[in-house]
Amino acid sequence: MEMLKKDIQYIKGVGPKKLSLLKKLKIFNVEDMIYHFPRDYENRSFSKKIIELKPGEKVTIYGVIVGQRQSLKVRKGLNINRYLVKDDSGFISITFFNQPYVKNKLKANDSIMLNGKIKMGLQGLEMVNPVFEVVNQGENPTLDTIVPIYSSTDGFTQNQMISIKKNILQMVNDDVVEYMPEIIIEKNKLCGLNFALKRIHFPTSLQEVKIARYRLVFDELLLLQLVLVRIKKKVISSKNSIPLKNNEGLVQFINHLPFQLTGAQKTVLQEIIKDLEDVTPMNRLVQGDVGSGKTIVAIIALYKAVINSCQGALMAPTEILAEQHYTSLKQLLEPMGVRIGLLIGSLTKTKKLELLEKIKEGQIDIIIGTHALIQESVEFQRLALVVTDEQHRFGVRQRAILAEKGENPHILVMTATPIPRTLALILYGDLDISIIDELPPGRKEIKTHGLTQEEKERAYEFAKKELNSGRQIYVVCPLVEESEVIEAKAATDIAEELASTFFQDYTVGLLHGKMKTKEKEEIMKKFTKNEINVLVSTTVIEVGVNVPNATMMIIENAERFGLAQLHQLRGRVGRGHSQSYCILLHNNKSKIAKDRIKIMESTNDGFVISEKDLEIRGPGEFLGLRQHGLPDFKIANLLKHMKVLKRVQSQVEEILQEDPLLSLDKYPSLKTKLEEKFKGFEGI
Ligand code: ADP
Ligand code: MG
Repeated sequence: MEMLKKDIQYIKGVGPKKLSLLKKLKIFNVEDMIYHFPRDYENRSFSKKIIELKPGEKVTIYGVIVGQRQSLKVRKGLNINRYLVKDDSGFISITFFNQPYVKNKLKANDSIMLNGKIKMGLQGLEMVNPVFEVVNQGENPTLDTIVPIYSSTDGFTQNQMISIKKNILQMVNDDVVEYMPEIIIEKNKLCGLNFALKRIHFPTSLQEVKIARYRLVFDELLLLQLVLVRIKKKVISSKNSIPLKNNEGLVQFINHLPFQLTGAQKTVLQEIIKDLEDVTPMNRLVQGDVGSGKTIVAIIALYKAVINSCQGALMAPTEILAEQHYTSLKQLLEPMGVRIGLLIGSLTKTKKLELLEKIKEGQIDIIIGTHALIQESVEFQRLALVVTDEQHRFGVRQRAILAEKGENPHILVMTATPIPRTLALILYGDLDISIIDELPPGRKEIKTHGLTQEEKERAYEFAKKELNSGRQIYVVCPLVEESEVIEAKAATDIAEELASTFFQDYTVGLLHGKMKTKEKEEIMKKFTKNEINVLVSTTVIEVGVNVPNATMMIIENAERFGLAQLHQLRGRVGRGHSQSYCILLHNNKSKIAKDRIKIMESTNDGFVISEKDLEIRGPGEFLGLRQHGLPDFKIANLLKHMKVLKRVQSQVEEILQEDPLLSLDKYPSLKTKLEEKFKGFEGI
């Protein structure tokens, strides 16, 4: 409908100033405004007589303005308007601070409804800065019902927001086109779309809020699930994968590893091997905490592909990690005659062409790279298995691209970020899940402490002790989201400062995202060989880096990191047999930051941390929808709405039975909505 696409600037109540505020909230048109839902509601349906009021309570009263008592400009920046209001039981004083405009809105003898907190003032009870509505004669006041509360309305009063919403809903006038097929509406007992959109903002009862919310949550989850299943359908075409039945030499290889696999590694490996031997493409997610030994499992799977005269690919989220994998794979597999290649952005053109040629000709067995590996025009000779490490950095989108390359490899994804099963269904469609729930023997808990920035000297003094006993240290500098350049500069400054103060007797190295690959490689090599004692780094070391002699990590401005990220970072230490430490330096201000640090101090268990993270951040952000190129949830909350999600999933199942490719030809309006909502999203 045209109306929905109407620019927000033409709406009554939106001036140029408000317009720019709305843009910040990503509200550009009428539809965006309608889909900017209340965060909560206030039930103002309980009104009281003035005589019944008590200090401290928040109530609604009806009354008549007796007159204005005061209109003062006390000093610059403080303006007071005071009124006297009466009902048939008594009088109360109403005070507005810094709301000069009320003067033009309220006059004697107006009937008024007020909602606010009662305070004991100098002259008896008063109500301060209430929300109010002048009630014209014969008109029903709306303020006495359930009132929406909007979040992130900086620069707007709730009243202004409410009035804009009202204008919009009046304009739209129940004309939003219903895209949901009748049969789905009936089956799931949904209310109509217009009803939902109107009543989610202005319900007449809490029951209506429930009904409206159910509909909107259902829609949001259904559309997301449909889009994901559609991508999955593209990914998993009916084509078969190559069954990798040959196991010659695999057991010997495993027996000659420098360590024994843990029970959990063995179990997971068996699950993978079984999948690989089948023609049905493997789609398996391996979850395992930081340091649980996922890499070796992947290496064994890749080796199995090679034994079967096929190629394998291993993708990592960063070049540093790709290089590190390259080193460990070479170490373990080159002696077995496996040819390994590293494809990263920094290769010279000639080198790259040469490598691509070899991959195409089948002269390389295992190719390692960043996600550039799938974006570039790599042609394989006989690709049978693709492993992606630290899947949370890879999206559904990337997997779709891979499948579209015409190869139909088995897919193994590895992640240290565990997610509950239902959520996995949302994000990964039908991936099978294996869990490595055991750490290799001999690991000690990493002792974690939060210290304020003022106490940082203590951290560095302690670090010296570790250094003196031959250990190595990471110092992690905060992520600067806006600019890699600023981030690099900050890291450089910290490195220089530390090198000339606390750590002047040691070699301090620097690592950040702005450095050339060669330089990074050089630094990592030196750190691995203990030629660098202290590595000052940005979050580029977040995933995968493995230097067991590093036993201490100091994280600067830890309050800027999320839980999952802190856990990943911390996982860089505690990789050997020695006691390891993690110090979180912070400006202990916000409650969330404090909570995070407490959680980090109290547990090393990635699954526990992940659950807490989910609680704190909410699933939208947790799942990184935006990272996957998907819009954030506007109303659904996967924690709260698990039941709706299950309904949605069974509804999708039902559609699939009739329409296995989810063409949605039977439901054209739903299809249009889906395509409009996810416009530009790969694979639709
Ligand atoms: P992650 O699961 O975080 O990717 P890695 O695969 O990097 O963990 O393994 C962490 C470290 O543990 C590596 O040094 C690896 O060699 C070692 N490791 C893996 N499995 C075992 C095992 N079964 N016994 C001892 N050490 C192991
Ligand atoms: Mg890893």
